[in-house]
Amino acid sequence: MNIILFGPPGAGKGTQAQFIVKKHNYFQLSTGNLLRNEVKLNTSLGSKIEQLISNGNFVSDDIVNTLLKQSITNLKFRDRIIFDGYPRNVEQAINLELILNEFKQTIGHTIFLNVSRDIIEKRIMGRMTCEKCNMTLNEHFNKKQIELHPCGAEYLKRRKDDNLKVVIARYDTYMRATNPVLDFYSKNSNFIEIDGADEIDQINNKINDILKV
Ligand code: AMP
Repeated sequence: MNIILFGPPGAGKGTQAQFIVKKHNYFQLSTGNLLRNEVKLNTSLGSKIEQLISNGNFVSDDIVNTLLKQSITNLKFRDRIIFDGYPRNVEQAINLELILNEFKQTIGHTIFLNVSRDIIEKRIMGRMTCEKCNMTLNEHFNKKQIELHPCGAEYLKRRKDDNLKVVIARYDTYMRATNPVLDFYSKNSNFIEIDGADEIDQINNKINDILKV
């Protein structure tokens, strides 16, 4: 069964997804990472995507849905996907349901990491992302781990869209377009809300408990 990690930017979806990948042998499908990979290819599509991301806007559903489908239909990941950053609007939620039905897959858990805007700002402003392995660390809370990062600390960089102006725009976009998706999932029995303001390990333990069921 697949898992949706839902929540505002900076809620810790990527961090928790990385723990789940290690412990439970899942594949992290981060649409943000897929889009950033496209930007690295330096194509004209990549530069359009970069412009949208750097202003805190969504990339079009067409582009994101195409990237998404390539992973869902990959047999290696069948029923072992953590959706991180998708769906981000109601149309994407409907699209996800259609594709999963078509390929006879299901969502086992929808986990909502709920965090307030002031915490998000603090977290994102300290976030460092590895250009090689996509691990995220925080310069305030993970000093030792940054020093000892296996890829080398020099690969840990601040994302271009992790600045205050864009963080505010991303949060506004989340409230306007993504928050309504909660109505879509919250009535399902497999929906669970976790306080995303808790410590990383506490959240991880709660998720492990959910996945054991
Ligand atoms: P993230 O890495 O999830 O924080 O995503 C970074 C940026 O990529 C977002 O602010 C959007 O510009 C874009 N993006 C990621 N996922 C989606 C999506 N599902 N739909 C539209 N845009 C997306």
